[in-house]
Amino acid sequence: DAPIGVLALQGDFREHADVLRALGAEVVLVRRPEELARVGGLVIPGGESSVMDKLARMFGLFEPLRAAVQDGLPVYGTCAGLIMLADTVLDGIAGQQSIGGLDIIVRRNAFGSQAASFETDLQVAVLSGAPMHAAFIRAPVVERVGPAATALARLADGRCVAVEQGNLLGTSFHPEITGDYRFHEYFLRRVAAAALRR
Ligand code: GLN
Repeated sequence: DAPIGVLALQGDFREHADVLRALGAEVVLVRRPEELARVGGLVIPGGESSVMDKLARMFGLFEPLRAAVQDGLPVYGTCAGLIMLADTVLDGIAGQQSIGGLDIIVRRNAFGSQAASFETDLQVAVLSGAPMHAAFIRAPVVERVGPAATALARLADGRCVAVEQGNLLGTSFHPEITGDYRFHEYFLRRVAAAALRR
């Protein structure tokens, strides 16, 4: 099986790598196009999307990432990673770009300063068992879910915080830090199914 990549330019990539290894995956930290070319799936971690975007362009990874997404590579983005996968980003810094792929409009830092970070329980229909305890850290929100994408979880007020579209998965929150790895397992099943189709 091809290893799972974790984009390791910036952010909490070590936490994701630890979770994936605990679930039995072989992990490659991706900082160069050659590393990206080896993986069967990629996680884009939380961090700061504007910095991650700049570093991806500096490291010559931005266009390879776009090409990989267009080519159907399974990618799971959390928080800043979700922003990177959004076709449209609101409240980005000047010149901020995203890889795109998810037919969504995302707003950065959507919870303002008072509720910048919080935890809550989410019902996620595609995950069996109890509600998911989710941590939001200066999190984005999905303001619009376009026709090609599907909402997977919403806050009590209806705002969307998890989406999928084809081989792409994104969450506003950080399952890598709360000890509930069902989203990572869901993603690894995606990766395995995609590998069978190739
Ligand atoms: N606010 C960050 C951004 O805009 C995301 C925060 C996070 O990944 N925890 O990229």
